Amino acid sequence: MSEPAHRHVLPADMISVEEARARILAHFAPLEAVPAPLLETLGQVLAEDVRGGFDIPPLANTSMDGYAVRAADTTGAALASPRRLRVTGYLAAGSVYDGSVGPGEAVRIMTGAPLPDGADAIVPFEETDEEEQSTRWEDDPRPDVRIDVAAAPGANVRPAGEDVRAGELVLPAGTILGPGQIGVLASLGLEQVTVIRRPRVAVLSTGDELLRPGEPLRPGAIYDSNGFSLASMVRELGAEPLVLDIAGDSVEALTARVREGVADADLLVTSAGVSRGDFDVVKEVLAREGEVGFWTVRMRPGKPLAFGTFSAGEGERVVPHLGLPGNPVSAMMTFELFGRPAVFTMLGKPQAWERPRVRAVAGERIARPDERRFYARAIVERRDGRYHARLTGPQGSGVLTSFALANGIAVVPEDAPAVEPGDEVEVLLIDRVTEPES
Ligand code: AMP
Ligand code: MG
Repeated sequence: MSEPAHRHVLPADMISVEEARARILAHFAPLEAVPAPLLETLGQVLAEDVRGGFDIPPLANTSMDGYAVRAADTTGAALASPRRLRVTGYLAAGSVYDGSVGPGEAVRIMTGAPLPDGADAIVPFEETDEEEQSTRWEDDPRPDVRIDVAAAPGANVRPAGEDVRAGELVLPAGTILGPGQIGVLASLGLEQVTVIRRPRVAVLSTGDELLRPGEPLRPGAIYDSNGFSLASMVRELGAEPLVLDIAGDSVEALTARVREGVADADLLVTSAGVSRGDFDVVKEVLAREGEVGFWTVRMRPGKPLAFGTFSAGEGERVVPHLGLPGNPVSAMMTFELFGRPAVFTMLGKPQAWERPRVRAVAGERIARPDERRFYARAIVERRDGRYHARLTGPQGSGVLTSFALANGIAVVPEDAPAVEPGDEVEVLLIDRVTEPES
């Protein structure tokens, strides 16, 4: 039996992106729940059910600056037939009125102040003679007020418990905390809540050629960009990057750094040293220090990938290790496809890693360079009700600016050699899409 001519023979250990991701995610689970101050919890997952301890607002209060009245006293009030009520007091937000509003009386009241006993409606300033006064009330308190509009019972009154009822389940465990949720927690009077802890992700750049930005450039050297792009991706996800010092291509340097990273992190991410290069000692160190597998993933950019585990401390804690390729685009793309889901899983948001997928019209030919699935960096726009994608420019795995320009990743699948201009291509949206005004 002969192979069909078009079929490439793949190395036996070549696995799909999905297979690699499934193997990796099998090593991750949500981290423990810890108490955290409210302001530190943005983007984290709530680990407890939060109930209201009291009504919010605790007391019925006014939603307008105005006069607290008995609605019945205003019946029939109109510009042509206003009513006059005696002003018996003044109430600012923050205190409770210690008297009550009797028939024919009104209390001047500021937004948020509790409704005084006896009153059942608020007449806003706009419906009184308030605006006609030339002096400030504080300097010249007036004995009475003219009511120009009749108030219905309950007018401009926010009932107690309008927002939250005592005992009510307000936010269930599993809620992702955004600004609105954090505001609600504060309104309940909570200083801290229990959330799934932020993962610490050690990021290690390896290679004798690497310089730290700020150091003088020397022949043969390049600046470490992976450490920065990867640490930023980690931070963007809501995890805490621990950026380790660059390790040269020596077994000693690498071993020391790897141990340092593992001691303190929930995940170690390294870049470079996993390809077939002579000085790529990462492989050797990894194999000695922990359990590691080297995979060839059917994707481009970013074919070589290492994944393994280390035991930290007394062999109690197992720290997964993701060994990314060194090329800057490959490092980012593999972190996008494998590191991001792992971090989201640790954060307790296992589904959140999925990027929005859209079908876009290809503005140019996007060809796979080989048989592997091609993840092209693309600029996506919305025009005439459709998404349109074009490449960011040259797509080499060293062309990092291609990532800097991209708001989408166009995926040319294994089963088609190219997407032709005008064809639809699947795009993962990694940033906002603009729609030019027409
Ligand atoms: P390697 O995986 O060590 O063969 O590296 C592949 C390519 O990526 C080489 O051109 C390296 O110089 C480059 N590279 C490796 N690490 C980094 C890094 N941290 N920042 C920028 N480029 C890198
Ligand atoms: Mg190298």
